[in-house]
Amino acid sequence: MSKVETKSKLKLSFEILKLRTKHPFGISYGSSSDSINVLVRLQYGDIEGLGECSPASYHMESPSTVMAVLDDLSKKDILGDDPFAIQEICKRMDKAIAGNYSAKAGIELALQDICGKIVDKPLYQLLGLSGMPAPITDFTIGIDSLEMLERKTKEAIDDGFKVLKVKQGTSYDRQIIETVRKFAPDIPLRVDANGAWSPKQAVEMSKFLAEHNVQFIEQPIPKYAHLDEWRFVRENCPLPIFADESCCRATDVARLANVVDGVVVKLAKTGGLSEALRLIHCARAHNLKVMIGCMIESSIGISAAAHIAPLVDYLDLDGAMLLAEDPFDGAVYKDGYMALTDRPGLGVIPRK
Ligand SMILES: [Mg+2]
Repeated sequence: MSKVETKSKLKLSFEILKLRTKHPFGISYGSSSDSINVLVRLQYGDIEGLGECSPASYHMESPSTVMAVLDDLSKKDILGDDPFAIQEICKRMDKAIAGNYSAKAGIELALQDICGKIVDKPLYQLLGLSGMPAPITDFTIGIDSLEMLERKTKEAIDDGFKVLKVKQGTSYDRQIIETVRKFAPDIPLRVDANGAWSPKQAVEMSKFLAEHNVQFIEQPIPKYAHLDEWRFVRENCPLPIFADESCCRATDVARLANVVDGVVVKLAKTGGLSEALRLIHCARAHNLKVMIGCMIESSIGISAAAHIAPLVDYLDLDGAMLLAEDPFDGAVYKDGYMALTDRPGLGVIPRK
């Protein structure tokens, strides 16, 4: 890897990254086979850093808002000429444009990638995480017909997945669990309702889920549920409760700390790795469990998250495995774990 001798300007370019899932991917907000992300390229001398933006409509972002934000940030010339000034650049981005964290995540990931390439080390080494074990990742079974759920569960077991996560938020949630359990009776199972239940429904469902040996429930009630509703669910639910959509940044942790058992960290919500680390440490300080999750994304976003995986209890990094074709090669699934390569930075290269 060539080193940059004199300071160059960081040059930003970006393009639509069209992804297609193997099967239509259904969650309580809707179902689709297409996921449109945005690929970020940051050029520094002859080094290119890659980043990925994975916008979600339920976080008020879309590919077009991401493109508009990136366009605006590139015109404002706030990237400067020092890729190691990551904190300062993040600060400048937040000052220039509020929110829009998936767009900002793309830039931060590309900066981390460049820094790793300059010093010729993988990101996890730079973060001091060498040699630390990471948890097993789960594989998600999206909402589908019972017939398809049967097929998807069998496929997941045949593919060797060791933990499954099941999406909920339908009129036949109990049958979904029964179908999955029929073909995967002993596998550790977790459930994600993506905010689809009322507090009362969540409590009722949690009792059923506990009988089916489910580990925990992610986002049982809506993103903007009142803290009293979270408290009601937690006090009456036999299973641990995790906040995903309701917990985006480190500042959300203190508010939720006494009404949930854990939080889900995603780079698309935090705006990149720096805030993800703050969120993890903040959650730890409040004695909360932590899971790293993902969107439907390529190996760029998934690999970036895999670098900090040793810091959490649970892993849900299956976004690239759900794809029919992953345009990038990075962290690979190996016997339950996301194995990172020794390549520098994020360790991601385009697939030929
Ligand atoms: Mg979730």
